[in-house]
Amino acid sequence: MTETLSNDHLKQFLENTPLYTWAEFGKPHVNRLSLLIRQVDVYCDVCKQLRPFLDIRSSGGAGRGHAVEELKSGETHLSFSCVSCMQQHIHYYLQQVVTEDTIQIQKFGELPRQRLPRNRDNRLTVRPFLRWFDR
Ligand SMILES: [Zn+2]
Repeated sequence: MTETLSNDHLKQFLENTPLYTWAEFGKPHVNRLSLLIRQVDVYCDVCKQLRPFLDIRSSGGAGRGHAVEELKSGETHLSFSCVSCMQQHIHYYLQQVVTEDTIQIQKFGELPRQRLPRNRDNRLTVRPFLRWFDR
């Protein structure tokens, strides 16, 4: 059973899913225009702790070719800034494949790479995903 894509799913995906791992969701009933979400909670190198990062482009939209991005197969670039220091930014590069019923998403880029202590503990869990590099 595939769960319908929600903002919570996207947030969890951005924060926790290793690079090059595909996740599949059911297509939302409400017509979703993009993969943009407002906030992720990640480690800030400046603040030295887990902080909320907010989407810095949602209001202005400067430098974007389209006013509205349809949700369709292609690539999405998301960027967020730490709400506390506004100095640390995080970028995600996503590839999405949209069909009639499903949305498949993978991260093919993440800057800076996550350096959470829990990544060290999860090394064994993460390792099987390395095979995706060969695809
Ligand atoms: Zn910060």
